[in-house]
Parts: sequence; structure tokens; C-alpha cells
Amino acid sequence: MYEEHREELYQAHMSLEKYNLVEYTSGNISVKIDDYILIKPSGVPYDKLTPKDFVVVDTKGNVIEGNKKPSVDTATHLYIYRHRTDVGCVIHTHSPYASAFAILGETLPVYSTAQADVFGGEIPITAYAAVGTEAIGEAALKVMNKAGAVLLNHHGVLVVGKNIEETLRKAIFLEEVAKTAYLARTMGNPKYLDESETTKLYEFHNKHYGQTKLQ
Ligand SMILES: [Zn+2]
Repeated sequence: MYEEHREELYQAHMSLEKYNLVEYTSGNISVKIDDYILIKPSGVPYDKLTPKDFVVVDTKGNVIEGNKKPSVDTATHLYIYRHRTDVGCVIHTHSPYASAFAILGETLPVYSTAQADVFGGEIPITAYAAVGTEAIGEAALKVMNKAGAVLLNHHGVLVVGKNIEETLRKAIFLEEVAKTAYLARTMGNPKYLDESETTKLYEFHNKHYGQTKLQ
């Protein structure tokens, strides 16, 4: 089932690799279709992954289709889908620059217009929660910002969105802004971008950025 979604989910996983957000088997994406979740299988390296490997689970985590075990992070994804009905896709990575902030237990403050544009504020940091349980999902939703991005303490990154395309974009840009923040910090003492300017940029970007349909 879900052949088209499998292909889109596969391409999204390939993008995680392309943008250096994951290594070998780490990270995962899930997508909600009707009342089911399609998610990466556990421990399958990206170069071995195929569209048919994705596992269909219900919202309680029962495997509906697939002959592989779903990701160890499935409980985290499911917790988010159960508590945020607006979410259609969840991405988790250990993308290195953003994860460095997560390991330091720091939020990622707004230094750049790029962060203001896409995220509209700092990227919050969760309390520590153990892998493989709902606790990460719970900790993430407690502090998640309006743009659906959060740093997982001592761990990595979690982003949510309406669909795969939107969520993937956030995962890629989060790593980019974390990288530039890291570089700026190594070169000097960057100042935070003004809060009202950040809000203005976010609103403008959400209204005007990208291609609008021609009539
Ligand atoms: Zn992880």
C-alpha cells in the first residue's frame, strides 16, 4: 500500500543524505497517511534502503504492513501525531552542527535573517529524554516553537510540518543556520537579531517567499 508515498518518502531520505544531515543508518522520516504512519525501518543503511522497506504502522504502533521492524524512534513520532493533528510529517536527524548545540544543552539563538525567515525565533532545547520511548515526543512538544523545530538535549534535531516537502526544508535550513551560527561564534561574538525584526522577517517570508501560482 501507499506506493506513491513510499517513493516520496524514499526521495526525502535520500535528501537527508545529500544534505549531510545523516550518516549510515541514523535519522528517520515518517509521514501520516489517513490514520496510518509510514516510517523508516530500524537500522537499514541509506545505501541499502528501498521504497518497499518502509513500514506502515497504526497510531498505536502496530505494524500493518512491512517485513522489517520500524525505527526505534517510532514511539516518538507516534506521540507527536497523536497530540498534533496538524502534523503530517516528522523528521529526526543528528545533523552535526545543530546537534552540537543540542549536546551543549543550548538553544540556537537568532543570529541570522535566514533563521528569522524560516523559524521566526530561537530553536528551543528539550529536557533530556531517553531514546525509544514516548518521552522524547513529550519533551519535544513541551518546548517546540511555532515553526515546528526543536533541539533534543544530548541527542539531535526534531522537526515537524504539514507535509514531507515543508518538513524537509526545515531540517535542511536548521542545519544551515546552526552551521553559520557555529562559524560566527568561532570567529567572534555574534549579536542576536532584534526580536521585532525577527518577527517581521518571518511574517514577510511566509507571505512572499517562493513561487505563487499564476492565475
Ligand atoms: Zn536519534
